[in-house]
Formats: sequence, structure tokens, C-alpha cells
Amino acid sequence: MKFGTKIIHSGLQPDQKPTGAVITPIYQTSTYIQKSPGKNLGYEYSRSSNPTRKALEQNVSSLENGKYGYCFASGMAAIDCILRLLKPGDEIICSNDIYGGTFRLFNQIYTRQNFKFIFSDLQSTKELKNLCTKKTKMIWIETPSNPMMNIIDIKKITDFSQKHKILTVVDNTFASPYLQTPLDLGADIVTHSATKYLGGHSDLVLGAAITNKKYLSDKLYLIQKSCGGIPGPMDCFLTLRGIKTLHLRMEKHCFNAKKIALFLSSHKMVKEVFWPGLKTHPNHRVAKKQMKGFGGMVSFKLKKNNFGIVKKFLSNLKIFTLAESLGGVESLISHPSSMTHASLSAELKLKNKITDSLVRISVGIENHEDLINDLSKSFNKLK
Ligand SMILES: *Cc1c(COP(=O)(O)O)cnc(C)c1O
Repeated sequence: MKFGTKIIHSGLQPDQKPTGAVITPIYQTSTYIQKSPGKNLGYEYSRSSNPTRKALEQNVSSLENGKYGYCFASGMAAIDCILRLLKPGDEIICSNDIYGGTFRLFNQIYTRQNFKFIFSDLQSTKELKNLCTKKTKMIWIETPSNPMMNIIDIKKITDFSQKHKILTVVDNTFASPYLQTPLDLGADIVTHSATKYLGGHSDLVLGAAITNKKYLSDKLYLIQKSCGGIPGPMDCFLTLRGIKTLHLRMEKHCFNAKKIALFLSSHKMVKEVFWPGLKTHPNHRVAKKQMKGFGGMVSFKLKKNNFGIVKKFLSNLKIFTLAESLGGVESLISHPSSMTHASLSAELKLKNKITDSLVRISVGIENHEDLINDLSKSFNKLK
């Protein structure tokens, strides 16, 4: 099946009994009847399995061209489940520029349990050899990255990790499976904050982990049902509903992002624009190779590196909403240094080029002219 058909049908069936409902129902139940002890209809307790969640897990894994998928109460719960595949003493090589919450989980929770994280700019694989030790068990990457829209060559990373028997995990939240499928490029596990593009409507928090490997799937399932970070059936239903328009939304997100990136690039108050679709982006060629489109996330720096001016710019916007998060139908704008990436040390912010002048946009699916007008008016008010 092609993507647009998979989105609507894959892993989903009309309810066989008793109603024939076309859309997967919300199975709002914790437990299931047993005809005799141990004899059930495939479900016994909703932490272990729930039909609404199962439909979502099958659907999401199929979008990533994966065989097995697990859904969680949040993107962070999915990431936490993946980290639990490892043990104290293990080392994880991690791309520099990752989601602030992931950084906090690694740096403030897992380091306490003697996990070691080595951060590196993985846009080039040259350093990998030097960073890799006998204890290295995992490479963790995000591409496009947050908030700098750096692009990492997934295939180059997985070529290295396969040779050294290291797991590669790709957080595919920013691209969505419509634009990029890392399992096809050799990744072992793909993870998502479905809160973002998969759900797509800023009305839920949910996460997913997908793999093609049976042994990893078995371990992930054991952790999921033992630790219990599962989503409720209502949120699974909402995610399924959101996914049905993923391909249409992504096309429009990409279209609008291009318009906005070009507008910003030519604006005299803007110093630099970060969007992988721009020919000036240092890894435009890699993005073109591994992605079907360049995504709906755009960051830029104002010429003046002054928090007061950025604050004024953000507060004057009418259509863009100043808020964390991304991937919804509405355009959101944020200030990474004081919002999503506030937990990074000043030193790391500097290293990752997260300055006060940096602004991140999650371009929505509104009319692009209205969006550009809104930005333009706010720039004019700074004069
Ligand atoms: C939001 C986000 C997460 C965390 O997901 P939650 O659903 O908020 O827990 C992880 N990775 C990336 C790239 C994200 O944008």
C-alpha cells in the first residue's frame, strides 16, 4: 500500500462484533472477561494490551515500515522505555542538538544511574570512531534536530553502528514517517512524540517506539507492560484520528515552511534562517537524499541578539501563538533559550548556538500569506 492508503487502513479493521463500527472504538475498559481461568479473547488487562491501543500500535508501526510498535503515555515515556534496554555502565553516543526534555532525562535522571552520555556533533561521522568504546551500546540521533534543524546522515550512522554492533535509535518526531523512515535506512528503533505531527492537533500527549527486530520488540513489550507508561484508549483514538490526515497536513506544513523560510531569508532584520530546504543549509544535500520533503519547522536568528527585542517581536504577533510544542495545525512560535531549551547549561547553549536571538517556528497549515503578513507587521513594529 502507498502511504496515503496505509494511513487510513493499515492495521485497522471494522469492529467485527457486535456492531461493525467502521472506526476503531474507544475501548474504555481496564479488564476483560475470561470464559474460564486463563481463557480470554486475547485481552486480559489494559496495561498489557488494549484494542484501541493495539490498533494504533499496528498503524504507527506500518507507517514507519516497521513490524512492531508500542505506544506510551508521552514521547518521554517511549524514550525512557528505550533507555531501559540498557544497563548501568553502558555508554550512549548522542547528537549534540536534541530535544530539551530528552537531554534532561539523560542528564538528570539516567546519569544518576551511572549511564554515560557522550554528546557529539554527528553531522559528520569522523568523530564516532574516537568516541566509541567497548561500553558503547547505543547511538541516539534526532534529525532534523531541535532547534537548529541540523541534518544527520542516518545511513552513515547506521553503517557505522552495524559494523560495531551498536543500536541506532532515531527520534523521528520532526520529520514524521511521511517525510522520512529511518528503519529503511538501517535504524534499529524509531521513536516519536506523537504529541506533535502524528496527533497533529495539539490535543493530546503520546509517544511511540517502533522496530523491525523481534528480540527488541520482545524487550520493549516486557518493559512497557512492566513499567506501565501506557496511553489511555481515548488518547489512542485521538491519535488514530489525527494520523488519518498526516500526509495532507505534512504537504501543507512543508509548503508553508518554504514560503516562510524564503520570506525570512530576504528580510533585513534576520541574520540567519535554519530550514533544511534552503540551498544554503549546510546539509541540504543529505536532507534531499533521505527526506521526502523538508518539514514544517523553521528557526531563525534576529540580527540583534537582545532578549528584549525578541520578546517584543514575539508578543506583537497575532496569528502565531507563543507556546512550546510543535506539529499542530496552528502555527506556534517559541524562544528556545528561555522555553524548550531552558534546562541546558549556558555552556551547552553556546556550544549548540542557542542564542537569545534564536526563534523557532512550527509552521501550521493556515494561509501562508496571512502568516507572512503577521511576521512582517511584527518586524515593522521593532523599527
Ligand atoms: C516533544 C518531543 C519529545 C517528547 O515528547 P512528549 O510527548 O512531550 O513527552 C521528544 N522528542 C522530540 C523531538 C520532541 O519534539
